[in-house]
Amino acid sequence: MDYKEAISRMTDEDVVTILCDLGSDYPREARNSLIFQTVCHGGEKHKLYYYRDTKAFQCYSNCGHFSNIFNVVMQAKDCSFGEAYKYVCEKLGYYFSSTLRYGFQEESIDNSFINRFEVEKVKAESIVIRDPVVLKRFRDLYHHTWVEDNINTRVMRLFGIKYDILDNAIIIPHYNMNGELIGIRARYLNEDMVAAGRKYMPITIDNILYNYPTSLNLYGLNINKENIIKYKRVVIGEAEKFVMQHRSYYEDSVAVALNGSTLSEYQVHMLLDLGVETVVLALDKEFDNPEDEKKYKEKINRSFISKLLPYFTVEIIWDQKGLLDLKDSPTDKGKAVYEQLYSDRIILS
Ligand SMILES: [Zn+2]
Repeated sequence: MDYKEAISRMTDEDVVTILCDLGSDYPREARNSLIFQTVCHGGEKHKLYYYRDTKAFQCYSNCGHFSNIFNVVMQAKDCSFGEAYKYVCEKLGYYFSSTLRYGFQEESIDNSFINRFEVEKVKAESIVIRDPVVLKRFRDLYHHTWVEDNINTRVMRLFGIKYDILDNAIIIPHYNMNGELIGIRARYLNEDMVAAGRKYMPITIDNILYNYPTSLNLYGLNINKENIIKYKRVVIGEAEKFVMQHRSYYEDSVAVALNGSTLSEYQVHMLLDLGVETVVLALDKEFDNPEDEKKYKEKINRSFISKLLPYFTVEIIWDQKGLLDLKDSPTDKGKAVYEQLYSDRIILS
């Protein structure tokens, strides 16, 4: 049987058997729930609720929601979905066959996706909103190197870019989707900082570090959100400069940045919540020979395409004509080159 079938035929008695085997005392009974000890995180208190109607669990001290008993087992035993499934089937004498392995694999991928998202969601909701008054200590000056890199000063102002005279650094505030300040990064310009690998860093003001989990945000969404909702499209790059260059080229830009080279489940959900239908990948060029190109393609397939294709039409900007240098983003060589790359993009559907 598959795991949904197993859940649907699971009786209260079965649930008690499993939870007691995991170390809980016999449950207390409430109107529509059974209340176990919090074996999910190795706790003693009776705060793990099993709801008879939905067959879901809620840990009220630590772990939050579990959509089914297998997720509780996974957490309690720190094991995979497949292992949790096997354990439950064996305990309850349910039919378990290794020929179902293919099915497990699917469920296990499915579930790790959901669990990772739930963990990320809790993390994202606890990101601290910062007081923007700290930005007042910096100057509204726009560094010539960024102007030369095709970012116009009007766009820098729009994104709240500042300059730190003391440390010779470009200040890049990070806002969440609602325009609230959540972090501040600096682009250090002094050679010693760059040489030490500290080119881009979150800054510290009065002993407060202005960092945040950047993979749980999309840089530029506060500025380009209306366009993205209107066109149901998004162009995804890796860094802040990409977004500002794109906005310098297009007033109705739909660009955002990942703040890195990976895509989190949470970022996928943000796009779904905005009603996005088409995702254009505009990642940095990480190859300058056919062998590296092949490897990079595999990485993109694994870390991006497989996550996006179930939900979106995916288009990929891929430098097939050698217009970019290694490490360039597609917007680095100016608007004309970007438009050429864009019109050559690969469309998957
Ligand atoms: Zn718990």
